[in-house]
Amino acid sequence: MDVPAPLRLAIDDDALAANWRAMARLSRDAACGAAVKADGYGLGARHVVRVLAAAGCRDFFVATWSEVAAIADLIAGHDLRLSVLHGVRDEDMAAATTLPARPVLNTPQQVARWREGGGGRACDVMVDTGMHRLGVAAGDVAGGLLAGLAIDTLMSHLACADEPSPMNMVQRDALAALAGSTDAVRLSLANSAGVTLGRDYRFGLTRPGLALYGGEPCAALSGVVRQVVRPQAQILQRRCVRAGGAVGYNATWTAPVDTEVAILNLGYADGYLRGFSGRGAARCDDARLPVIGRVSMDLTAIDVTNAAHLAEGDWVEIDYHLPSAAAASGLSQYELLTGLGIRFDRRAA
Ligand SMILES: *Cc1c(COP(=O)(O)O)cnc(C)c1O
Repeated sequence: MDVPAPLRLAIDDDALAANWRAMARLSRDAACGAAVKADGYGLGARHVVRVLAAAGCRDFFVATWSEVAAIADLIAGHDLRLSVLHGVRDEDMAAATTLPARPVLNTPQQVARWREGGGGRACDVMVDTGMHRLGVAAGDVAGGLLAGLAIDTLMSHLACADEPSPMNMVQRDALAALAGSTDAVRLSLANSAGVTLGRDYRFGLTRPGLALYGGEPCAALSGVVRQVVRPQAQILQRRCVRAGGAVGYNATWTAPVDTEVAILNLGYADGYLRGFSGRGAARCDDARLPVIGRVSMDLTAIDVTNAAHLAEGDWVEIDYHLPSAAAASGLSQYELLTGLGIRFDRRAA
């Protein structure tokens, strides 16, 4: 039975495609890919791949092989390339030699595993240039660790792309120094913020994620990136709370005067975390409707004194412009996207 959800995530496909085109323009001569891990940063990976492939994107990145399985039919036979950032474990080998994706090899063990069982298939390789997260050592690459592998992209990942850190140049130079030391078709370094750091950071392929979905990791992208997701919640009840009455768990908010309050079908189980308590807001037309009291698991209260017409069953939009929502809630823009829960009905804006 198809039961209409009381919670929607309006996804603006035009903005999503426009954001990719903007990042592709900023990438200049480099190809521009798209990170679609974590279910397309919470939007739905299948939908994101369809929209971005239509916009012209050819290179996609997920974290794991189960994420490949979820979109495999959209990749195979469509002239698209998919890479798996976490590489390949023993238990991934069956998937990795069947599904239309290649591993990003991260460790000498993964390199050995792929050499042994990969049947000569193509791979990518991650080099650690100072973030000390995933990747083989640059010295090992220079020393021949990758000899004989069919490498498409030799990549590294910036630790501080969203700030003017001297580490950016160190990482860029460490990757550039590996040019020509392997048979890799191309090099790649930049995530969303990295694309803005200049020509020497773009190499042959860029890998934006956050900016495609409306995030602004650095000032250079504000005004470039458009908002993509807008949560919308339905009003379950409207009531007047008399002066002195309290709202929500632990009675953290008390009405200073008689206040019109609407209770929304939205809470921390949907990814609207408690950092929005007393700090977030909804919108209706031009009225800002502040969150009052504590966000609970499934419910959030807002002050609707300035929206006389709003009634039970009506919908309001939640303020989710990512940079401002991050500042209000104390959450990162990445957390705000990837936390969006399964109870949202994801639909076209
Ligand atoms: C997630 C990820 C990206 C995308 O990063 P954003 O900051 O979202 O643009 C690029 N490269 C790698 C290796 C990643 O893990």
